Amino acid sequence: MTNRLDGRIALVTGASSGIGEATALELARQGARVAVAARRRERLDALAKQLDGLGAEPLVLTADLADEAAAQRIVKEAEAYYGRLDILVNNAGVMYLEPVAEADLGRWRHMLELNVLGLIASTQAALAGMRARRDGHIVNIASTAGRVANPNAAAYSATKFGVVAFSEALRREVYKDNIRVSVIEPGVVETELREHIGHAATKDALNAWADSMRQLQSQDVAETIAFCVSRPSHVNINEVLMRPTDQER
Ligand code: NDP
Repeated sequence: MTNRLDGRIALVTGASSGIGEATALELARQGARVAVAARRRERLDALAKQLDGLGAEPLVLTADLADEAAAQRIVKEAEAYYGRLDILVNNAGVMYLEPVAEADLGRWRHMLELNVLGLIASTQAALAGMRARRDGHIVNIASTAGRVANPNAAAYSATKFGVVAFSEALRREVYKDNIRVSVIEPGVVETELREHIGHAATKDALNAWADSMRQLQSQDVAETIAFCVSRPSHVNINEVLMRPTDQER
């Protein structure tokens, strides 16, 4: 029997597509009020209409979360709007894959700033309120790339190994404050993520590999996140590694 999320307030980053969009909708279906953040305003506005229909009292926050100040601001704006924040889903991310020897370090810097530093900044901003109320749940989206390092994914893996390590260290800092931390590590999910790979050969190879399997859908990950955050407060699901059945590594 699933516990519903009635009365809970969530902020989902990277909610304009893929896993974040599905997660915002799933949390709303289960009763939460939901704030959504990303850069593409029109996508967020369309999502907000759906969230509104679910009674989720959506708040749309347009922000570039590679900017540390913006990553902190969205948390403060959600807290100001709803009065508090119970659940932070740090999902926004990019995946720039290319061989180290040819890598565009500017793009890699941006990926590190978004996937790692933005996530850390939003988390830091949420901690004060969660600590004061002795209640909160931080969900960080890593990847199987945070458990297995592959060629052409060196920097992406560095960000996701970083998210896994950060999440475990954070858990040990805040568990005594009754704050829960979950890291979700999906394998291949059918989303827009791969569209932004600049290195053509790597993109083609990854798309062919993904097409060879029955990929996870965003909804599969969304339901997993909803499961984690709807457990009773004494249950802390720290880590979920989930692959398509057809995915080996
Ligand atoms: P999408 O590309 O569909 O979603 C990425 C989201 O991040 C979008 O909402 C995008 O919104 C947002 N985003 C990107 N850059 C920024 C930015 N600078 N500031 C704010 N928001 C930003 O991909 P997924 O749903 O697949 O990705 C979500 C997360 O899941 C990522 O962290 C990814 O690494 C992880 N993941 C994905 C897997 C997959 O196979 N798809 C597997 C494992 C993990 P916008 O462009 O509007 O800003």
